[in-house]
Amino acid sequence: MHAEIAGAGFAGLAAAIALNHRGWSVRVHEKQAELRAFGAGIFIWENGQRVLQAIGAYPDVARGAHQAPGYETRRNGVCVSFENINGSNPFLLMTMTRQHLYAGILAAAARAGIEIVTRSEAIAARPEGVLELKGGRSLKADLVIAADGVRSLVRDSLGVACARKKYQDGIVRVLVERGDFVGGAWDHVIDFWAFEPRTLRILYAPCEDGRLYMAMMSPRDDAEGSRLPIDARVWGATFPMLAPAIATVGSRGRYDVYETTRLDAWSVGRIAIIGDAAHAMPPTLAQGACLAMMNALSLAEAVSTDADTIASLKRWEATERALTDHTQARSAELARTRALGSGMQWDDIGLRAARHVPTGTRGEDFDRARTTEARDARRTRGEA
Ligand SMILES: Cc1cc2nc3c(=O)[nH]c(=O)nc-3n(C[C@H](O)[C@H](O)[C@H](O)COP(=O)(O)OP(=O)(O)OC[C@H]3O[C@@H](n4cnc5c(N)ncnc54)[C@H](O)[C@@H]3O)c2cc1C
Repeated sequence: MHAEIAGAGFAGLAAAIALNHRGWSVRVHEKQAELRAFGAGIFIWENGQRVLQAIGAYPDVARGAHQAPGYETRRNGVCVSFENINGSNPFLLMTMTRQHLYAGILAAAARAGIEIVTRSEAIAARPEGVLELKGGRSLKADLVIAADGVRSLVRDSLGVACARKKYQDGIVRVLVERGDFVGGAWDHVIDFWAFEPRTLRILYAPCEDGRLYMAMMSPRDDAEGSRLPIDARVWGATFPMLAPAIATVGSRGRYDVYETTRLDAWSVGRIAIIGDAAHAMPPTLAQGACLAMMNALSLAEAVSTDADTIASLKRWEATERALTDHTQARSAELARTRALGSGMQWDDIGLRAARHVPTGTRGEDFDRARTTEARDARRTRGEA
């Protein structure tokens, strides 16, 4: 069985590795000249970590990634919610640069011997199992996967009804050096919100190698807040504790508006659509990449346990989609209401996906790895 995959992002690579592990031959097409992750930092919750383990990327990704001991929310300078995480508490969360995550997944793909063709742009697919590339080549496959991101050309070529929505806020994502932001509460993930005199938010997340990820949210209609390069005076005045880090941002960053993409169907014939191409969502629950990788893994599992590929794709969607729809709807609600400004939602509604044991993973193996990683992390911090 052979698969052609459009897009070497988190979804496309996870699908490629998972299919390879199940005996498929795979080829991945990436339109960029270089394999690299766009963006700054990323949160990977426990469900995403389980997928990383299933595809053989977890040890590389966990090594060095930041495991914050606490997650707090501060509103106008006052702590409104706090959770111990990553220890005895069942919430597992790692923060890292996107390049760190990508490198770990790419290394797993290289170990599996997966062919990734760069400068190879997919422009369309046909339901009988054909991927069309820019330049005129058409490639036949038992399974074609559209993993070419939120503006997917492959998805659009299939004529699947697609509802898109943009929200009132957007984010500038930057990486800076942590500098003196080390130790005590500065090792936590901290969600800083301000509603007076204007609505602004900085999600503060330490990463590997002394890097600091700041996701800087502002309303689209706030010309000063959404200005690029960021106005260090405006942001520094709103979040004085972070002013030294904000002062180093300079011209980094791009303003991305929150958006959702919702499809009528995740497959057409032998074509499956995964990741942001299928279900982009606001980053309010930090689940987009986690779900993209989860659905890539469950897709590989589905098409490998049933000889009828087209029927297995329908079953895959019927089994897996409800959790993604739930998470997308909740993310959209949090984007619309800005309810995270009143504290992280540590409930089943918010964390259902994070707590989910993904199809294609084995819980007991992960628990063992988790114990080892937590012990190593404590040793590194000199706590044990
Ligand atoms: C501000 C922000 C913060 C986020 N934070 C988090 C977070 O903390 N945790 C989390 O889990 N998720 C987060 N997400 C969501 C996450 O970034 C996405 O869900 C994830 O990147 C989707 O992966 P993907 O592989 O589907 O798409 P992409 O990452 O977009 O990858 C698509 C790949 O396909 C390539 N490509 C595009 N078009 C073509 C083509 N025609 N032919 C060939 N190749 C093509 C692209 O170059 C790219 O390499 C965030 C999103 C945003 C906007």
